[in-house]
Amino acid sequence: MQAILLSIGDELALGQTVDTNTAWLAAQLAALGISTRLHETVSDDRRLIAASIGWASTKADLILISGGLGPTEDDLTRQALADALGVGLIEDAASMRTLETFFRSRGYAMAERNRVQAMCPEGAAMIPNPAGTAPGIRAKLNDAEVFVTPGVPREMKAMFEASVLPFLREHAGGAKTILTTKINTFGLGESDVAEKLADLMQRNRNPTVGTTVSHGLCSVRVRAEFDDSGRARNELSDTASQVESRLGPIVFGRDDDTLQSTLIAMLTERGKTVATAESCTGGMIGAMLTDVPGSSAAYLGGWVTYTNELKSSQVGVPPELIERHGAVSESVVIAMAQGARERSGADYAVSVSGVAGPGGGTPEKPVGTVWLALSTPDAAVARCARLVGNRASIRDRAAKCALQMIRLTLIDESLDNLRWLAKNGKQA
Ligand code: AMP
Ligand code: MG
Repeated sequence: MQAILLSIGDELALGQTVDTNTAWLAAQLAALGISTRLHETVSDDRRLIAASIGWASTKADLILISGGLGPTEDDLTRQALADALGVGLIEDAASMRTLETFFRSRGYAMAERNRVQAMCPEGAAMIPNPAGTAPGIRAKLNDAEVFVTPGVPREMKAMFEASVLPFLREHAGGAKTILTTKINTFGLGESDVAEKLADLMQRNRNPTVGTTVSHGLCSVRVRAEFDDSGRARNELSDTASQVESRLGPIVFGRDDDTLQSTLIAMLTERGKTVATAESCTGGMIGAMLTDVPGSSAAYLGGWVTYTNELKSSQVGVPPELIERHGAVSESVVIAMAQGARERSGADYAVSVSGVAGPGGGTPEKPVGTVWLALSTPDAAVARCARLVGNRASIRDRAAKCALQMIRLTLIDESLDNLRWLAKNGKQA
């Protein structure tokens, strides 16, 4: 079964109300193995709605429409559906009785306007509304089954569950199995990721492979759609493994895994601990780590040493180092990481000092220059990242680089895998 979803309403078309119905419906359909091919938002325009319904009925076998069933002038979906069907509206006696009872039970007379809600396109059927006054409508146009529900999300969901879902369960028989997974990476830009996956990302392939970037993280979505559920599982797993092996160590997890949840799990599993000494990130690394339930098993704590004085007094950075090299320098971050490791007793300590901007940049250390260091039981390594973006994104990427540095070190992978560190090598 292939579905098209139509949302009706000026407020949606104008962007004043965000269309949440479509996202909810598409997810419900996906869970039933029904794929949604198109979403369309149509303003309260009778001819446009009728044309959209007519066109959709030639492209899909299921059309779900929400909105425009109310009693006011601008609620035109019922008339538009009748136009698309080429029929008129007739009063549905049972719906009229339900409406009258509804108003009587609340102690007031039904406004004349509300009568339109009991009008049904000839040959179509009314669907009861378990959560409000406006009944829905069910009709058949070409080979498409059409369901119209009210736009109010609560009513739409109640009607979907009571009347649409049972129909779909019965008729989506032979439905395909749709399985999806997301592979999460940090360390390469989207175009580099896409280049490594070029053949897997071809449009005609099944499973499909696509990328999404959000806050520096690049996720690869894999979606398998097959008649046979066993085959869907195998193909999904096969493609996902190929993606993971091509992208290598920058892959930190699947689906809801975050850099910090993965890192806490890895440290906990190994019985290792970490501490932090942060300057320009102001505690963001600590905040990310403590976002993870159970992080106390692996994160001991840290210092926000924003001033030079605190870098010296709290984590023992020799003032001469700061004077000679500046607070944003290799020697200072190494001293911060070593000091944090020694003073906390952690197995690992990570430190960050950088220029987050917008001010404070110099020709040698422009905005986005961030030094990071990791102190381990064996050594201390420092890298310089040249990050781009505004203050918020520089700080966010710096914190994520620190987490990924620890992770790469734990799995014995080179820090060069993190593109933002590798590009500029060791020179600041
Ligand atoms: P209607 O059924 O067109 O009278 O819509 C009633 C109200 O439901 C609108 O004023 C919106 O606030 C809300 N609504 C309608 N369609 C949607 C939608 N697709 N997503 C979220 N809210 C909606
Ligand atoms: Mg409306």
